[in-house]
Amino acid sequence: MNIILLGAPGAGKGTQAQFLVESLGMVQLSTGDMLREAKDSGTEMGKLVAEVMSRGDLVTDEIVIGLIKEKLDGEQGAGFIFDGFPRTLAQADALGALLKECNRDLDRVIEIQVDDTALIKRIVGRSTCGGCGQVYHDETKPWPLNGQCSICGSTDVKRRADDNEESLKQRLMEYYKKTSPLLGYYFAKGNLISINGLLSMDEVRSSLKKVLNLT
Ligand code: AMP
Repeated sequence: MNIILLGAPGAGKGTQAQFLVESLGMVQLSTGDMLREAKDSGTEMGKLVAEVMSRGDLVTDEIVIGLIKEKLDGEQGAGFIFDGFPRTLAQADALGALLKECNRDLDRVIEIQVDDTALIKRIVGRSTCGGCGQVYHDETKPWPLNGQCSICGSTDVKRRADDNEESLKQRLMEYYKKTSPLLGYYFAKGNLISINGLLSMDEVRSSLKKVLNLT
């Protein structure tokens, strides 16, 4: 099974993708993670995209399509979860062609719907544990008072450079201008399903299981 998780920044795509990786052994392909890795390792491409990402703009189609192509060529997994890709119509067309080349189908496109006020609250205040990736939030799930992650004990608090109000506004603008047309695109192709992302994490997970016929 190959699926796309669609939704504005902060909708919960990464969190739900993690659940599918753990429960079904699917392979998560997050272009955001790939670009952050490139940025952190200081590669030429990483240097090129660092500024674009911190502004909240989209990096070029050519770069992200190249990253996805590399992964599809090398992976034989149980199925792919595309998280944060595609984000433009050109990327969506390219993904269709790449899947066809490796004889794979796109089974579902799942939109995780949330409203903008909730998104801003979720993102500004978000942090993750550098040790295990556990997600925290200043208001709803603050770091334990002893400063150690409740899962792995690490004290490494990571905040994304683009998780601030200014970059977020630009990320939202990019989403509405360039990514939201994909909802119509996949609706017309017949594989779009929308779920309510405003519910609790467990409830969203249940909806996801339901639409993927996993219950
Ligand atoms: P994300 O982790 O998915 O929120 O992505 C973080 C940032 O990486 C975005 O704001 C973009 O700058 C860049 N990025 C991630 N995926 C894409 C993509 N498919 N197309 C263009 N830029 C992307």
